[in-house]
Amino acid sequence: MYRALYLTYRPQTFADLAGQTHIAETLRHAVKTKKFAHAYLFSGSRGTGKTTAARILAKAINCLSPLEGEPCLSCEHCQLIEQGETLDVLELDAASNRGIEDIRTLRDATLLRPSKLPYKVYIIDEVHMLTQEAANALLKTLEEPPDYVVFILATTDPQKLPATIVSRTQRFDFKRLLPDVIQSRLQMVAEKEGIKLEAGAIRLLSVHAEGGMRDALALLDQARAFAGETITKAHVEQLLGIPQDVHIEALLQAIETAKLQEISRILQEMYADGRDAVRILTTLMQAMRERVLGQKEHEQTQDRFDATRRERLLTIMTQMLTLEPLLRRSYDPFLFLEVGLIKASAESHAPSATGSTIKQADGDGVHLKAVEKAASTFQTKASGSNQKTSESIEPPSERTLSAHPGETSPSSRKTTRREQKGVWQSGSTDKLIPFLDEVSLLHIQSYQSRWSELLNRIKAYDIRTEAWFKQGTPAAVHEDMLLIVFSKALHRETVEKEEHRIRIEQALADVFGRPLKFMAVMEEDWLRTREEVRSGKKAEAMVDGSHEDPLVREAIELVGEAYVEVIDRRKKG
Ligand SMILES: [Zn+2]
Repeated sequence: MYRALYLTYRPQTFADLAGQTHIAETLRHAVKTKKFAHAYLFSGSRGTGKTTAARILAKAINCLSPLEGEPCLSCEHCQLIEQGETLDVLELDAASNRGIEDIRTLRDATLLRPSKLPYKVYIIDEVHMLTQEAANALLKTLEEPPDYVVFILATTDPQKLPATIVSRTQRFDFKRLLPDVIQSRLQMVAEKEGIKLEAGAIRLLSVHAEGGMRDALALLDQARAFAGETITKAHVEQLLGIPQDVHIEALLQAIETAKLQEISRILQEMYADGRDAVRILTTLMQAMRERVLGQKEHEQTQDRFDATRRERLLTIMTQMLTLEPLLRRSYDPFLFLEVGLIKASAESHAPSATGSTIKQADGDGVHLKAVEKAASTFQTKASGSNQKTSESIEPPSERTLSAHPGETSPSSRKTTRREQKGVWQSGSTDKLIPFLDEVSLLHIQSYQSRWSELLNRIKAYDIRTEAWFKQGTPAAVHEDMLLIVFSKALHRETVEKEEHRIRIEQALADVFGRPLKFMAVMEEDWLRTREEVRSGKKAEAMVDGSHEDPLVREAIELVGEAYVEVIDRRKKG
């Protein structure tokens, strides 16, 4: 039968007790000088060596030929304890034996002298789990223990112990093990077991054991079962669901540049690859943190763009902080990760947020202001098409157009259209679907709020362009493409002409601080497509009743009902 590595390589001596040198040394000295206490309290998080130390201590004080306070491990007493063949050393798990009767039985047993060994040793694990009555009964025993009895109480949660018990014991706090300590032990175990362990793999295992040796060795066991005798970094990443660097890099890039579709695509890839949503989030946060800190070191040589970029990262990170608890409670953490990252990315690129960041880049707490501003921008849902200004200027007359007869001929228009990305082909509503992404709709508000500023800018270039363009309404934005809807075909077609398009796109870049294109569509096409997509989504959501789910409700509160789509991945897997 296979024996778990953490059992096989459990430390047998104080000297071998990794990472708790001070405790081990104190205990060894106490045994050596025969000045050990009759009640110990070992506290510390799981896997830090509490019960291991208790067993070593039980052997050491009973050993027939101890060596400098260490158990010899070969005498009759050491062997009896090791094999669990003596009732003089007893381990009790207080998590499952927590009642008053259990402790009474134990107390009665302490009244009898040990049958074979010099000392009776009672190791009570998770002692904080005892009931009130049981704890009181234990306290009585601790107050006047027979001199042949040693109690070793172990707990992961010393705060829950009555102070009266704690004060009767000699207490040792076991520290979490540092990754270095875990790493060298993993190295040793791997060598003895003939496992080839890549340096990157060891590092990952030791970090993800979170300070516990038992977890570290259990992970090594799993990795071996998964990968065989040669374990690479990629194996461990796969095992732990840790995202790969290249994916994190790509994701960070997409978030920083607000490539929302790309964020979604990379996440889907990572999901299919079995990566863990919480680990993706934490790894991403670490990568962002490194970028922000890395940038700060070169602050003197930084230009304005770098400062903006850093504040943008901080804005995103601030939002991501609130995501982790949501992910941990969610049955579909990927959904929350996706919505959360897309939202954070889109909001950090909203002109209002970026604008405020640039203006206040010298002050403290800049990113918080940006977040507040972004939050208020998105409090109300984007409404899309009813933002027309009441002010109305007649568009340029037909005569103005006929001054350029070449442009209106069908053939030349066709050529121009093929060259221009984003020109609307009537009837091809598929092109509109990306704009119906929840975040696109959410995002457009910040453009709508600065629409008059944009029109003024266009007017400064050419008043005719502005007169045509202002007939349209910003309805959605997707990546670098603004969707403008028009109710009259003439207006729509005219703004698409090269001369107008150039001015409009220049003005867009001026006002919003990044290259933007626009697509002009007919209002009726836009509204119809939007209705089709929305009614499709609504029907799905009603069928599975997922709105009942508290997490879905929470998501809806977070971003608004129109923007939450529920995908139950369990049904597919
Ligand atoms: Zn011995």
